[in-house]
Amino acid sequence: MDEKNDILSLTFDELQDYFADIGEKPFRGRQVFRWLHNRCVADFDEMTDLAKDLRQRLPDLARITRLEITEEQLAEDGTRKYRFGLHDGLEIEGVFMPEAKRATLCISTQVGCAMGCAFCATGTMGLVRNLSAGEIVGQVEAVVSALRDGAQDRPVSNVVFMGMGEPLANLDAVASAVDILLHPMGLNLGRRHLTVSTVGLLPAMERFVREVPVRLAVSLNATTDEQRSRLMPINRKHPIAELMKTCRNLPLQQNYRITFEYVMFKGINDQDEDIERLARLVKDVHAKVNLIPYNPCEGLPFEAPDEARVRVFADRLSDLHVTAMVRRSRGDKLKAACGQLVTGLKSL
Ligand code: SAH
Ligand code: SF4
Repeated sequence: MDEKNDILSLTFDELQDYFADIGEKPFRGRQVFRWLHNRCVADFDEMTDLAKDLRQRLPDLARITRLEITEEQLAEDGTRKYRFGLHDGLEIEGVFMPEAKRATLCISTQVGCAMGCAFCATGTMGLVRNLSAGEIVGQVEAVVSALRDGAQDRPVSNVVFMGMGEPLANLDAVASAVDILLHPMGLNLGRRHLTVSTVGLLPAMERFVREVPVRLAVSLNATTDEQRSRLMPINRKHPIAELMKTCRNLPLQQNYRITFEYVMFKGINDQDEDIERLARLVKDVHAKVNLIPYNPCEGLPFEAPDEARVRVFADRLSDLHVTAMVRRSRGDKLKAACGQLVTGLKSL
């Protein structure tokens, strides 16, 4: 990458400071922020309310590296899977899921992931690199631009950080990206409409709830340490008791509830005993549970329970006063469902 400032990664405040540093009035920062993150332009030339000499000077100082949508697939239910090309030739994926009252975009935070969960396609890639804040918001802005060209003015209402990568292993960039996405001069998304999902990185979770004003989801996925360590290596470092203790004590903002994600694997964590153990684990946390039937990934030795078993599991949790929802799988024919996102490195 060249030395020019990556201005897509700067928050609103940082952009104003940046313009002060280059000897311009801070309000130029506000104007440029709006062009970048509301109008989603790719070129300084399009910023028509900037003085011409500034417009000509900016390309020497800073760069706008937009992501390119290199592939788009549309499923029957309206789900769209996007492949984005990064400036260094790497690729990431995101998934757009329209529903009656909202449209959710699932975005990536890293190329690959270092956490090595046994069931996850992204995990098989290892970590290639972190995304910058500009690349994280760039996914939302690329999709907004593409869909705005169609009929809708505000095509994306919700964003979930549940694509490739572990967001809390790239917390600085994720925090800046959230700041940019929420800003009234940018896309102005609602803070209750953003959710960041973590494998359970404990110190980072504490920092996250103090500093980032959006929802947190935690991938629990098991009810015993034996199961969880087998599925998720992070459990050897932070076992379930420690994870739950941290969750109980998190100073959650906005009276948010934590969402526990529980991917269901046939014959592993879908037994009667799991129902009781799960209810006991989450009982004194301000939480709800999302049950996600496993989405098969090629070459990985796991299966989903049948639908009836998932139903019974959810109903019995409700009987035990746990708020539990089954998350319908979207876009699985596109390999766009949770944990199926993976990109090769052939372009390197
Ligand atoms: N790294 C973060 C966020 C990305 S994974 C995390 O692990 O939370 C997002 C969610 O997808 C996690 O809850 C994860 O457990 C789940 N997941 C991963 N692979 C899956 C698969 N093949 N089927 C269903 N869910 C999966
Ligand atoms: Fe990484 Fe999440 Fe996949 Fe685990 S489930 S390997 S943390 S992306």
